[in-house]
Amino acid sequence: MSNENLEGLVRGYFALELEDIPARHREQTDQCPSLLRFVEASREGWGAQEQEHISSCGYCQKTLAQQLRFTHPSVWQLFLHLLGRGANERAMEIHLEEDGCATCNHVLESPLLTRVKRLVEQGEENLELLEAWLRGVAVGAGKLSYTGAFAAEEATAFMLRAESSNKSLSATLRETVSNRLRLEVASPDPNHAGRKVIAELTPKEGNPTVITVTLEADEDGCFAVRDIGPFGDYARTLKNCCLLVYFDK
Ligand SMILES: [Zn+2]
Ligand SMILES: [Zn+2]
Repeated sequence: MSNENLEGLVRGYFALELEDIPARHREQTDQCPSLLRFVEASREGWGAQEQEHISSCGYCQKTLAQQLRFTHPSVWQLFLHLLGRGANERAMEIHLEEDGCATCNHVLESPLLTRVKRLVEQGEENLELLEAWLRGVAVGAGKLSYTGAFAAEEATAFMLRAESSNKSLSATLRETVSNRLRLEVASPDPNHAGRKVIAELTPKEGNPTVITVTLEADEDGCFAVRDIGPFGDYARTLKNCCLLVYFDK
């Protein structure tokens, strides 16, 4: 694919408000990275010099905010924002407040981040260790699209997946054929056998359901499964929910 075609695709992907000027946005500067570079950096991170520009550039912050609609900040980035130490605070503000991302707002209010913030405020935590821990948090957002008994018979079963960015943990919340709600947690690393994993299932409004499971070794690494209860009891929670799954410390 030619670079021009790719640039077109990337612009479409960003669905830019920035696009009303064909060539260049009025706030864009010579230092602003290309849109292609934004896509690359969402996987590999920014260099120090690039980050310095982006943090202070209105155009780049808006571009990042557009990107966050698709990729979402990591739990670690959300946590830095909670501490007021994020590198892209304007982009984060747009994502959380103006775009009102429900998933990221859920994560910010999770028992996990509340607990970690308290540890930092008490001076008990080393940020590098925290970063490693938070990069292993699996996040998923789900919307149960049916709630009526009749619709349920025809609908496909509910399933919500969450995977951590470092791939150390994944979880599936699913409706079984016998109409139960079941949580399955997996890790590819057999060394995690015996570790406790916490799952927080948070509805749009109301308190989270918190479940703790212990990983056991299996042929693919480690696995844990928990029957949570009758699916119907959780239909309201699942209508618009966020699932956070992480290793206990
Ligand atoms: Zn810029
Ligand atoms: Zn988000």
